[in-house]
Amino acid sequence: MSLLVVGSLALDTIETPFGKITDALGGSAVYISVSASYFVKPIRLVGIVGSDFPDTALQYLESREIDLDGLQIVEGGKTFRWGGRYHYDLNIRDTLYTELNVFEHFKPIIPDAYKKSSYICLGNIDPVLQQCVISQIDNPKLVVGDTMNFWINGKRNELLKALEMMDVIVLNDSETRLLANEPNLIRAARIIMNMGPKMVIIKKGEHGAVLITRKTVFSAPAYPLENINDPTGAGDAFAGGFIGWIAKTDDLSEENLKRAVIYGSTLASFCVEEFSIERLKTLSYLEIQDRFLEFRELSKFDTDYSEKYS
Ligand code: AMP
Repeated sequence: MSLLVVGSLALDTIETPFGKITDALGGSAVYISVSASYFVKPIRLVGIVGSDFPDTALQYLESREIDLDGLQIVEGGKTFRWGGRYHYDLNIRDTLYTELNVFEHFKPIIPDAYKKSSYICLGNIDPVLQQCVISQIDNPKLVVGDTMNFWINGKRNELLKALEMMDVIVLNDSETRLLANEPNLIRAARIIMNMGPKMVIIKKGEHGAVLITRKTVFSAPAYPLENINDPTGAGDAFAGGFIGWIAKTDDLSEENLKRAVIYGSTLASFCVEEFSIERLKTLSYLEIQDRFLEFRELSKFDTDYSEKYS
């Protein structure tokens, strides 16, 4: 099934307590499409870069069968750059700089051949652009979107319109509380579902993720990693693994959505092992399958024993 990905492509400079990387490939659309490319091909990527975007990066994306016909390359322009520094507690990060460059005037132009895409994944971009993308697509089966505090606070009304057009919104704890104006996460998710999306996924970093639909609450553990080098892009890798699996199987049943959450968690767990997309680059489908199965073992337990004592 066809998957359309729209978001940022970036050159990131990242410092963590474990190292530093300069002008490395990043951006939400990159993490989403590379993660999803393990499940579904080709992926249609819509974004913008400058002429300084490395050819090697373009070649790598093409090698993953990511279709770049929708990528705008601005001659003489500079690619979006972002710098971040993580604390010893990797949940805390300071943004050192954000240079929007060509991204500042990004208007997603969806090639005609992409307008019949079945699945859409929207990275964290201006909700006006998210609306503009969704409205150009002919009857998609599932639209997954991401957002952040900046848009929840700064463009709330536009975000509410974008949410009406989405099926799944992926948020972290604080974004969920802020958007719903409700401290309890489950209640907050229900409030958000009344804004439009049929499902809310709450990413909880090293504590896993929760999928909330009108019928189900499904809690996925996080993989107990001992080596985390760079948490950048984990949420986007999650979204890519999630929608990639759904697009591959073309199955929107509740059971398959749960599997998709585990595939999302699997891709996120690989993503953070190395800087930028380095670990995603070396991944094999077999490694993904092995870790997917390990997730089941993480929270499987025997109930017969306690029944004996009831
Ligand atoms: P995450 O770790 O999920 O927040 O994603 C980090 C990625 O988002 C990095 O690769 C950045 O290049 C990209 N990014 C950071 N700030 C922005 C922004 N304002 N708009 C779009 N992408 C951004």
